[in-house]
Amino acid sequence: MTKVQPYTPIPYGRQTVGAEEIDAVTQVLKGEFITQGPAISAFESAVADYCQVPYAVAFANGTAALHGAYVAAGLSAGDEAITSPLTFLATSNAMVFCGATPVFADIDPTTWNLSPEATQQALTPKTKALVPVHFAGQPVDLAAFYALADQHNLVVIEDACHALGGTYQQKPIGACRDMAVFSFHPVKSITTGEGGMVVTPHKHLYEKLLAFRSHGMVRDAAKFETLTPDPWVYEMQTLGYNYRMTDMQAAMGRAQMQKLSGFIAQREMLSQRYEAALASDPRVILQHPEPCGTSARHLFAIRINPQETRVSRREVYDHLVAANIRPQVHYLPVHLQPYYRNTFGTVPGQFPNAESYYETCLSLPLYPSLSLDDQDFVIAQLSKALG
Ligand SMILES: *Cc1c(COP(=O)(O)O)cnc(C)c1O
Repeated sequence: MTKVQPYTPIPYGRQTVGAEEIDAVTQVLKGEFITQGPAISAFESAVADYCQVPYAVAFANGTAALHGAYVAAGLSAGDEAITSPLTFLATSNAMVFCGATPVFADIDPTTWNLSPEATQQALTPKTKALVPVHFAGQPVDLAAFYALADQHNLVVIEDACHALGGTYQQKPIGACRDMAVFSFHPVKSITTGEGGMVVTPHKHLYEKLLAFRSHGMVRDAAKFETLTPDPWVYEMQTLGYNYRMTDMQAAMGRAQMQKLSGFIAQREMLSQRYEAALASDPRVILQHPEPCGTSARHLFAIRINPQETRVSRREVYDHLVAANIRPQVHYLPVHLQPYYRNTFGTVPGQFPNAESYYETCLSLPLYPSLSLDDQDFVIAQLSKALG
């Protein structure tokens, strides 16, 4: 391969934004509302319709959306919620925001998703919620988590931040039992710059999410508990935050929703090209697909097989960076972070599957506008790096 090194680094992920988003944002800026206007509910409806659920609540970011989902589920001091250590910090940090205790359970060594068996073993009388993460966009076996939740009266909150556009049993991810949470950070399936959303089939959760997003305020006089419903009165019944999304972001999100299936098709095509190039390479281990659905293909993560190459992950990483490619590592297991070790007493060795995954994993560039030439360059450089 003699391709000239790209001048602009090839990132592991990035946004795809066009004239439609620019037009949509411009329209908002020329109009009456730049926050709390009609663009918000239009975007919420677009996501709810896509996910085949009646309710969606937009948030300032995915972390705020997770926080909202946990509070709506009633998570508070003394409660435990179980999640995967192989996730972004926000999944468990937002549990801590509620005063609850994050409890980790190990991943399945082949699918890299939270293991239902390990989750079952982590249950205690304090467990209130299960928070499986659709890692890299690949759906978790929700039926196994629903069965646990039924048996123990738990709420299932899907961290679907990787998974908008994926499917579970022929239905979109987001067609959830309790709640599912999305992020619209630039590397995710669609973006609003920063942004997030909770979807739910339950009206009572929807109402809690709406109030929580905006200081705990209730504006519908029919729902007032004590105050006289003069037209200017809002009633604060619970504590909330200002976690609102702006109308510019929502308008951008709605334009992105119209491109979602195209984005996913492109991610699928590129992922299949990686698989075709790497499946028979013994130096590389690929994610084992879950048979229950289709991946949104958020990440193309590989493991380097230490039995088949003496080259370390760090050496592969450095080689790719020197070739102007920017791979990433998803994730340093959360229980190894000093905050978690100091606060919750987690220790190295506690989740061997997540830890050994971390030792050898690498996420290759994957985003809808990745050119085939750039992808071929990545594949060639990877092969060279693997020695
Ligand atoms: C991106 C992400 C989040 C947080 O979303 P933000 O929008 O960045 O706050 C949470 N969980 C997972 C798994 C994510 O990938």
